[in-house]
Amino acid sequence: MKNQLIYSGKAKDIYATDDENVIISVYKDQATMLNGARKETIDGKGMLNNQISSFIFEKLNVEGIKTHFIKQISDNEQLNKKVDIIPLEVVLRNVAAGSFSKRFGVGEGLALENPIVEFYYKKDELNDPFINDEHVQFLNIASEEEIAYLKEETRRINKLLKEWFAKIGLQLIDFKLEFGRDAQGNIILADEFSPDNCRLWDVDGNHMDKDVFRRDLGSLTAAYQVVLDKLKELA
Ligand code: UDP
Repeated sequence: MKNQLIYSGKAKDIYATDDENVIISVYKDQATMLNGARKETIDGKGMLNNQISSFIFEKLNVEGIKTHFIKQISDNEQLNKKVDIIPLEVVLRNVAAGSFSKRFGVGEGLALENPIVEFYYKKDELNDPFINDEHVQFLNIASEEEIAYLKEETRRINKLLKEWFAKIGLQLIDFKLEFGRDAQGNIILADEFSPDNCRLWDVDGNHMDKDVFRRDLGSLTAAYQVVLDKLKELA
């Protein structure tokens, strides 16, 4: 079933299967930041992210969001539809934090009246630069209609996620999504949704996401385990 390794990323390895339209994603125990400049093994992280992402994608599928998620097949593996990843990091922000706070000189924690969608060009050699809609078209990454769809779909996903996390006492500050094109050319949600690519603050303002690693705030897996346990309350 699990055939050759087709891609090895920072957080996941991707394997081919007997079905050319299906891949296996293996979540790794690796944490990186600054584009891989800092890299550490964190036992149990892969398993936690696979479980968190599987849980969320399952719920998004139920809500009618088109995603690559088929099913979780083991603690650290899931079956996904094969897509060509669109080289964009689509970031949505509900609250100012991280690079947004730095770029615009606003304090972390400022609630944004309207959620803001940003695009970054996924290209390691260039350090994933911040780009706008016209750059996306210039680079032939997506058409005007597709850009509108990516933004609309990201806002729709945000409404669902924000509500689910609020129910379990977590505030969804911001997150990053990746989309891909399937064999029929449809744009569907791909990659993962885990505390590696979002910010979640609990009611006391504790960071329950990768900022625990980025800012050396304690045990990353202890925080991710709390997120997983709380999500299970929604089941
Ligand atoms: N993010 C990500 N991958 C990246 C950059 C950002 O998943 O390569 C996520 C990050 O976890 C956060 C959101 O996107 O939830 C916004 O990140 P930001 O631009 O503030 O950058 P950071 O401060 O994390 O460098």
